[in-house]
Amino acid sequence: MAIPSHVKYLVIGAGIHGLSTAYHLAQQLKAQGKGDGRDILVVDKGGIAAGASGIACGVVRNNYFQPAMRELMAHSVGVWETDPEGYSYHPVGYMQISPESMHDDVASIARQQKEIGYESTFIEGEKESAEYMKTLFHDWQAKGITSVLHEKRGGYANNTKAMYALATKAENEGVRILTGCTVTGFKSDSAGGAVRAVETDKGEIGCDQIVIGAGPWAKTVWDMLELPKTISIKGADGHVHDNVPMWIYWSLQEGTLGVDPELQKTNDGKFPPVIHVDSNEPLYSDFDGSLITDQMWGIYYKPDFHFGGIQGGAAPYAIDTDPDDVAVDPYGVDSPDFVVGEDFAHMWTSALAHCQKRFEGQFEYYKNEPSGGIGSFTPDSFPVFDVFRENCYLIADSNHGYKMLGVGKLVAEELCGQKSSLLEPFRFSRYAEGRLHPVSNSPFPWS
Ligand SMILES: Cc1cc2nc3c(=O)[nH]c(=O)nc-3n(C[C@H](O)[C@H](O)[C@H](O)COP(=O)(O)OP(=O)(O)OC[C@H]3O[C@@H](n4cnc5c(N)ncnc54)[C@H](O)[C@@H]3O)c2cc1C
Repeated sequence: MAIPSHVKYLVIGAGIHGLSTAYHLAQQLKAQGKGDGRDILVVDKGGIAAGASGIACGVVRNNYFQPAMRELMAHSVGVWETDPEGYSYHPVGYMQISPESMHDDVASIARQQKEIGYESTFIEGEKESAEYMKTLFHDWQAKGITSVLHEKRGGYANNTKAMYALATKAENEGVRILTGCTVTGFKSDSAGGAVRAVETDKGEIGCDQIVIGAGPWAKTVWDMLELPKTISIKGADGHVHDNVPMWIYWSLQEGTLGVDPELQKTNDGKFPPVIHVDSNEPLYSDFDGSLITDQMWGIYYKPDFHFGGIQGGAAPYAIDTDPDDVAVDPYGVDSPDFVVGEDFAHMWTSALAHCQKRFEGQFEYYKNEPSGGIGSFTPDSFPVFDVFRENCYLIADSNHGYKMLGVGKLVAEELCGQKSSLLEPFRFSRYAEGRLHPVSNSPFPWS
């Protein structure tokens, strides 16, 4: 495709946010008689799903301690449900299985899910939790679990399949997707003012409005826009903390046990909800019985034909390298630095065996192939959805985002003049104003 000299809307990134925004914006423009998909160009330096969206586990859940996150996720689940087949979305549900230290947090999630009409069952007590789990899996054996939150909606989607479907939906609306085109800079008439063109390795493209869905490359684009490397944050104690880095990276740890996905069917022969277990119990090796950790740990897993086995992950780790020096490229499984190693495989397969007897002795089937990838996180690990430089709409999901299919729809509505109360709690100004989201006791930075 020849590059156009000017477009109304230029979207950077053909991942979940760029594509969802492009598709929904095309629909909005048409519905309002303001244009259509031909006004929108998506550019991506790789291809469709070349970033985090193409390697994500694909879990779609509501389980968040922060009310604003939960309401936003409920909206997104609704968008997944509009076309489960098209999006390769499996609405099997999701379970948060927790120790006592998380009981109160999860109880408040359950309460608030009721209030917003998000269907879930909440089981409390060690005996009751074990019994409930055994009605699903006869071989359930995790100890020290005192609550189970069973979300009846949500589940998971097949990562790349959903992205290709979204790209087709956008293209059917007239949206153009230009792959192999890297944005290298921005042009404006005044320092720090509105951007009037993007510079790419294929030439300059003039534009009226920019949408940035750059995922793990959010910092790179942020730097190109000459936005601040560090910010000030007003903490819960009212004190202002200066010089906090705007971006840090975390490495996500995921892998696949290469067994028949049918191994993980429920007692009644169905495919189960996505399982997420957090635990304070000591975790012993399923290989040699040695202690792996006596600290809190967590895993998630699901049978998945797309990955070819039982796929899932464990808590990520923060990358302590100076964010300016972290090599985001080559990304994902091609990265020499950030793919999971033997430690993860040992811990995760042992944790599977800790939870369900059927996984005992199965570690030898762990797929020794590169997996995992890095994510770009904001200072509080929650998304920033906001406009910078007057016309650059940044969708920076802080790695919460595969499940957030609905964000692009809300952003499209905002671009067409309709403010979204669901996006409001995620403005950049929350840092300076101290309007921060509550923090949970989960070992994961995204719960
Ligand atoms: C291993 C892993 C597992 C995950 N699992 C889950 C999960 O189960 N559930 C969940 O909700 N979330 C999950 N996430 C998080 C989720 O994948 C991301 O939050 C989400 O995919 C980000 O979407 P995006 O559209 O912002 O970015 P991406 O999907 O990364 O897309 C960004 C695109 O921008 C392009 N790009 C970047 N810079 C430029 C440039 N200068 N010029 C042109 N193009 C550019 C890239 O090539 C890329 O294709 C996971 C993440 C990882 C890494």
